[in-house]
Amino acid sequence: MTLFKNLNTDTIKDCLILLDIDGTIAEDDQLEVSDENMVIIDKLKKMNQVHLCSNSRNHKRNKTIADYAGITYLDTDIRKPSKKILDLIEHSAFTRRLVIGDKFLTDGLFAKNIKADFIKIDRITSKNDRLYIKFLYWIDNLICKIISK
Ligand SMILES: [Mg+2]
Repeated sequence: MTLFKNLNTDTIKDCLILLDIDGTIAEDDQLEVSDENMVIIDKLKKMNQVHLCSNSRNHKRNKTIADYAGITYLDTDIRKPSKKILDLIEHSAFTRRLVIGDKFLTDGLFAKNIKADFIKIDRITSKNDRLYIKFLYWIDNLICKIISK
C-alpha cells in the first residue's frame, strides 16, 4: 500500500474514478489538501473522469475541496457502500470504474457493489483525529487483517 501522494498514476486512464476524501486526500474532517496530493489529483483528472465521494455529511467542506481541486463532488446523503451513488453521475465517458479510498468497509465494499477496481491507499491520520474516527479506523484495520489471512 502507498500514500495517495505516492500513487503511480501512469496506468490509471479512461476510468470513472470515485475518490474518497477523509483519510485519503485530507486528514479526517480537515479542509487542507496538500500540494503533493493536488498534483496526483491533477494527473488523474487529465486521463479520467474524477468525482469526490465521501460519507462525511460536512457537504460544505467537501464541496470546497472539490472546487479547489477542480472536480465534481457527489453531494448526497447516500452513503458508501450503496451503489445508488452511481445514479448521481449523469454521464460517464468511461465504463471502467475505480474507487480510491482508505477504508475497506466503505470504499472497498462500495467498489465491489459497483463492480469497480479498488485501490486501497495508506491512510492519512493525525493525532487530532476524533476518538470515534480512531475507533472506526481500528475496526477497519482489524477486518482487513482478518480477511487478508
Ligand atoms: Mg476515508
